[in-house]
Formats: sequence, C-alpha cells, structure tokens
Amino acid sequence: MPFGRPGGHLINLLDLDAAGLAALFADMGEKPFRAKQALHWVHQRLEGDVQAMTDLSRSLREKLAATAEIRGPAVVSDTTAADGTRKWLLDVGGGNAVEMVYIPEDDRGTLCISSQAGCALDCAFCSTGKQGFNRNLTTAEIVGQLWHANRALLADGVSAKGGPEREPLALEGEAHSAKGPPMTAPWVEQGRAPITNVVLMGMGEPLANYDYVVTALGVFLDDNAYGLSRRRVTLSTSGLVPAMDRLRADCPVALAVSLHAGNDALRDRLVPINRKYPLAQLLAASLRYLDRAPRDFVTFEYVMLDGVNDSDLHAHELARLVRDIPCKFNLIPWNPFPDAGFETSPRSRILAFQRVLADAGFVTTIRKTRGEDIDAACGQLAGRVQDRTKRHIRIHSAPAGTAAH
Ligand code: SF4
Repeated sequence: MPFGRPGGHLINLLDLDAAGLAALFADMGEKPFRAKQALHWVHQRLEGDVQAMTDLSRSLREKLAATAEIRGPAVVSDTTAADGTRKWLLDVGGGNAVEMVYIPEDDRGTLCISSQAGCALDCAFCSTGKQGFNRNLTTAEIVGQLWHANRALLADGVSAKGGPEREPLALEGEAHSAKGPPMTAPWVEQGRAPITNVVLMGMGEPLANYDYVVTALGVFLDDNAYGLSRRRVTLSTSGLVPAMDRLRADCPVALAVSLHAGNDALRDRLVPINRKYPLAQLLAASLRYLDRAPRDFVTFEYVMLDGVNDSDLHAHELARLVRDIPCKFNLIPWNPFPDAGFETSPRSRILAFQRVLADAGFVTTIRKTRGEDIDAACGQLAGRVQDRTKRHIRIHSAPAGTAAH
C-alpha cells in the first residue's frame, strides 16, 4: 500500500504530530507522555516497527500494534549521482509518484521534498504544472520523505554534516540488544542528522496543501522529533497570499517566493496565480511575513528564461520593485523539458543579470546544477523520467527541488 494513504485500517504514526499522538494514546487510556516516547522512536530512532518500542510495556506495544503502524514510503527508485546527490522516486498510488532529492554540501545536507502529486497552478515553465493536479500528499507522505531519507543515509553510514564519522545506525531487525536499544540514535547524541536542512521546493505548491504541510512542519521542528531550527526549514511558494499570512501566524519557517518576473504582465503569463494575487499584494505579504520570519530576509527565486525575463532591463525593473524588501535573489538556470516553449538563458546572460542585481545591493546567487547524471537537476526529470515511466510503469514524476518553486 502506498505510504500514508487514507483508508488503511491502521493509523500511520508518520501522520501524527505530538498532539495527534497524545490523542491516540489518550484513546488507549494512556498518559500523554507516551506521545514523546513515540516521537523519539519514530523520528529520532527512525524505527519502522511499533513492536520495537521497548520502553513501552509489551501489552501497550500489542495494543498499539493493533491500532497503528509506521509505514514509510514505497520507493520506486533510489539513485546516487557522482557528486553525491541522491534522488528517490516514491510511489504515492494511483499511477503517481513524487520525488525527493538529497543534496550534500560541506557543511550541511539538504533534502528537497514534495508536497503534492502534480500541481494545479500551471506555471508556464514548470513540468509539474504541465502534469496537472492529482492530490495533496498526506502528512505521513511529507514527513515520511524526511524519515526515509535519514534512515537510508544513516544505514549507508553517511555522516552527519559538520560532525564526525560514526557507525551506521542499526535499523529494525538488526542489532537490538536483549535490553532493547538506547533511546537516542547516534545522530541525536551528536546533535545532527545527515539531513540538516529541509526545503519544500519539490513537486506542488505547499501552501495549497496547508493543513497537512503545517502539521508536517510541526514534526520537523519538534525537539522530540527532528528538532530542526526554523531557519533550516524553507517553504517555497508561488504566492498564495492569504496562506502566507496564515503561515506567518501558525508556523513561520524560512520563506522563499517564486518571483520570476518584475512586472504583473509578465508574471501573469509565467505564474498564473499572479492574476489573483498580483505583485503588490505578494510583496506586501512578503514584507509582513518578515515580522515573524526566522531569517531577516526573503529569498526571491527567479528562473532564467532566454529572451523572456533575463535582460538587463528586467533586472533593473526587478531591483526597483523589491528595493524596500530585505531579500536575496536565487537565480535558477532553467532546465528544459519537451515542448516547454522556453530556452535556458546563456551563462553569460545569467552572470550579467546577477551583476545588475549585485550592483543594486542585492545578494544574488546562481543555483548550482547538481546530480545531472541522475536527472536530479532542475527540469530534467520531466523530460527523461516521465518518458521512461510512461513507457514502463506509468508513474509520473517531476523535478524535485527544482523547476517548481
Ligand atoms: S512552479 Fe510550483 S506552483 Fe508553479 S506549477 Fe510548478 S509546482 Fe506548481
């Protein structure tokens, strides 16, 4: 069964935050502190079997196993590129799949995760948008991406970024002593898991799946679960203004905004949600968000499309547009997919665009292309994976971390 799908008779513990677990244990007549124990087992020990929770009594474990399970993702493929970038394709049922991509860097490990199967917003340059909307991922399907990636990396002995090498974590069925394993995993003792940063930049518009995404964010941030800092969790939106305000109130993590144009006429064409929430509203919401954001800037993402939005005039217009907003720019070289109708800006043009923004005082980075040999780079998956899967398993995919936001 695909992970996290509603309708299974057992509750997936990956679906529940601290409050959900407390309610589950209360229903069983148990004390609320059981929720904390369960969070440790599921998200810190990365356990996959409720029967392995050895600090719960045998009778409670049996009761729990009759009600709940820990059901991780169904992995269709798991590929590692020469540069260490690792990509998983996950079956979410109904002939659909989503992707997540792990990007190791010297001082951190970033996981780019998906929030929807497909996307309804239909941005002109985005391969996910071309697939249309299938459904929202559940909390379990969102949290399960981080859970699975950490497990897979630890099982392979991938070191915590910035920390010393350590022994691979024993997963269920392996090396549990007669007394049961200690409550903390090796990475907890070191204080860092292999994945130190999470970005919701994969498939889908996270704020269009608000409730499940915010519950998942709560698990990412919970010290009894992954304990990530708000600064290290970034949500990228194409600009659902009311939901940006809700997020600011409910769970302000770092914010990235897919801007892609410096005027409404062009943005209407590239990012159709702009017709509903035009730039003035989007920028005002971005500024409001900064009141409560964990970082003192918004990241504006800008996909570089040859001859469309990449001239010096566009760069000057952009600089004027955001001059009152503390922000950084991330320029994204667009990666082609079939029949998109766009070309990638030449490198020299991207550098010139960057120069204009830098001269105007904006920190401006150019997104590195990673994992090209496994189709993990922006925009490449739609062309290659989708063609392949159409022929074989009829599972659709899209670039994770990528063209989307
Ligand atoms: S860029 Fe983001 S919001 Fe736009 S269609 Fe792609 S996934 Fe959806």
